[in-house]
Amino acid sequence: MEQLNFDGTTTIVWRKISAIYDKENNFSGALVYNRDITKIKETEKQLIDAKNKAEESDKLKSAFLSNMSHEIRTPLNAIVGFSKLISKESISFNEKYKYIDYINQNSKLLLNLINDIIDISKIEANQLNIYKTDFMLNDLFKELFSTYLDEISCLNKDIEFVLNIPQEKIFVNTDELRLKQIVINLITNSIKFTEKGKIEIGFKILNNSINIFVKDTGIGIPEENIESIFYRFERAVNTENKHKGTGLGLAIVKNLLAILGGTISVKSKKNIGSEFIVEFPTNIIVEKSKKTNIQQEYINNNLDWSGKTILVAEDDEFNFLVLNGFLKDFNIDVLYAKNGEEAISIYKKNKEKIDIILMDIQMPKVDGYQAIKEILKINIEAKIIAQTAFAMSDEKNDSINAGCIDFITKPIDPDLLKLLLQNYLQ
Ligand code: ADP
Repeated sequence: MEQLNFDGTTTIVWRKISAIYDKENNFSGALVYNRDITKIKETEKQLIDAKNKAEESDKLKSAFLSNMSHEIRTPLNAIVGFSKLISKESISFNEKYKYIDYINQNSKLLLNLINDIIDISKIEANQLNIYKTDFMLNDLFKELFSTYLDEISCLNKDIEFVLNIPQEKIFVNTDELRLKQIVINLITNSIKFTEKGKIEIGFKILNNSINIFVKDTGIGIPEENIESIFYRFERAVNTENKHKGTGLGLAIVKNLLAILGGTISVKSKKNIGSEFIVEFPTNIIVEKSKKTNIQQEYINNNLDWSGKTILVAEDDEFNFLVLNGFLKDFNIDVLYAKNGEEAISIYKKNKEKIDIILMDIQMPKVDGYQAIKEILKINIEAKIIAQTAFAMSDEKNDSINAGCIDFITKPIDPDLLKLLLQNYLQ
């Protein structure tokens, strides 16, 4: 029972009352025994809370797993199904072309999903590393604008795409890849949920903040969902069935921003449109530029590198076959190592003729990092390009620190590979 104390506080007590009788067995009083059990009760409540939390987390984990297994299976089934159909002799050229397009679309979906799952898991395990550098925000927006201008023009939608950035060049210090990921998430949502009208992206410098915005004239978000869409797996009621999605994107955006020191808000009206605003404090703006990477901007399509040799270290045979397929077009000689150990020994024997090494990082026996170290011991000038697992993984920075001249992300984009080789083979 609860007992009110003189100082106004309450104590939970266990009370036992025993009657006292005199020699003649007449009732003469009572013995009241009070035991303060406040602490015990508090501990009991903490234990119950902890148990409920564990059960809740278990439920969420199960929901997460079943959700994920469904989300992964859907594009995977399409990839497996269309791959089988494509090998049928009876299908027409047009059908084949269509199936290849479906396979590509679903591969892209699956890859994005896997990247999202990895990000969410890393964020929740507190294991997400960020790499801040100085870069020009104007350039980042110009690049995104041209990418998505192309993409929107390929869609059958009547959308005007507008870039709205200040004239002055703004250099900021934050994680460029993560910021890009945030803006891409918002742009792809706008494209997904807008059929006609306008999508406007850009940023502006205010007195105390730098505001990035993505604004559209799409289906909008019902008021009751405005807050929940930032939680994982939550989707607004008006999009649940019609549009594909996992409901992970905005949860990742919100968490990334918390790590980068920014915030996100949204203004939206159903059937009118939405505006997402990402706000950073002005202290991310830096005064002067840092060295920028010079990138060749054109792709020469008729490349002939006969006489050049590339060593590919890759433990997965299929990945190697894909790479080899891309490299065949350039008449380049390819040497193949199945693990780090082989890479070192092949390099030792052929160091005079190997021009570039494409090094997978995760390999059995001797991993990529160790192989890079050993090869650089043989030749400090060796040109090693790391093949890293995911766009956002730490492998990128680790491989540059280990001595690679550059990196390329798996699955390998043939145009990017071409550009990289162009830069380092000429
Ligand atoms: P997904 O797009 O995969 O469903 P997100 O976390 O990116 O997941 O978004 C969650 C939900 O927020 C979407 O399903 C949609 O209901 C709503 N939403 C996000 N952006 C927009 C937008 N620009 N217009 C309308 N609804 C949006």
